[in-house]
Amino acid sequence: MPIDDYHLSINRAQDKIKCHFTVMSINLPTQNYQSVRQQRLARATRQFNARGIAVKRCPHCLVAQYACICSWKRTAPCNTEVILLMHSAEILKPTNTGRLISDVLADKCHVFEWSRTEPPAELVKMLNEPSRQCFIVFPTEASNRQVYSEKPDNQESKTPTLIILDGTWRQAKRMFNQSSWLKPFPCLQLNIAKVEDYGLRKAFSHEQFSTAQAAAFALAQLGEIPAAQVLQAFYSVFIWHYAESKMNRQPTLTDNHRLLVGLAR
Ligand SMILES: [Zn+2]
Repeated sequence: MPIDDYHLSINRAQDKIKCHFTVMSINLPTQNYQSVRQQRLARATRQFNARGIAVKRCPHCLVAQYACICSWKRTAPCNTEVILLMHSAEILKPTNTGRLISDVLADKCHVFEWSRTEPPAELVKMLNEPSRQCFIVFPTEASNRQVYSEKPDNQESKTPTLIILDGTWRQAKRMFNQSSWLKPFPCLQLNIAKVEDYGLRKAFSHEQFSTAQAAAFALAQLGEIPAAQVLQAFYSVFIWHYAESKMNRQPTLTDNHRLLVGLAR
């Protein structure tokens, strides 16, 4: 999702359900961002012309080569898993931030290209595993959707799994409303008021988040503080390097770089 384009309403759900989770391991092959990107490139009938096509980009982080963020990439331990559903238009965009979740969570992040009517068989299988408790990170007030703000305490043996919709706000709404196969799953509302309690800093206004920020907040809300902090810091480094490269400047080091070094596993 582009940097400024994720709108989340301020959480109104006031469920205060306390719980403790025991996480079960799940052995499934992980499809990461790079594999989805390769599949998308193989299907492309013409070269993808991103803005700034003349810029020589790092093939991995897609930032200008002289501002590459790859050496700042860190993974973080996390008991929660993420299913990242990418809109096809988002996969090749250098501004996409959903892929940063794949970088930080590694094999805990399963990436798929979204399809309204034909979700990949592997995705359907994963969504329906009895050992998972899936939540869609999406603000909804629909009366027919169950909404949580914390982990439910009656699902202790299940692996919490965040379903994150990666597209523009308009695309994410379409993905949420038109995917009949997503209808059975409850939503996780972000409690923005608690963001700073998790040691995360607000990068923009309360109501605007990128995919990576929304994921960091959701992870924090489920108690995954180290993973949330690494993701937030790596996202901030990405934003800084990207913005500086657009101005043809070499990015200087920031507190977020230092945080990543300190947070590194
Ligand atoms: Zn790079």
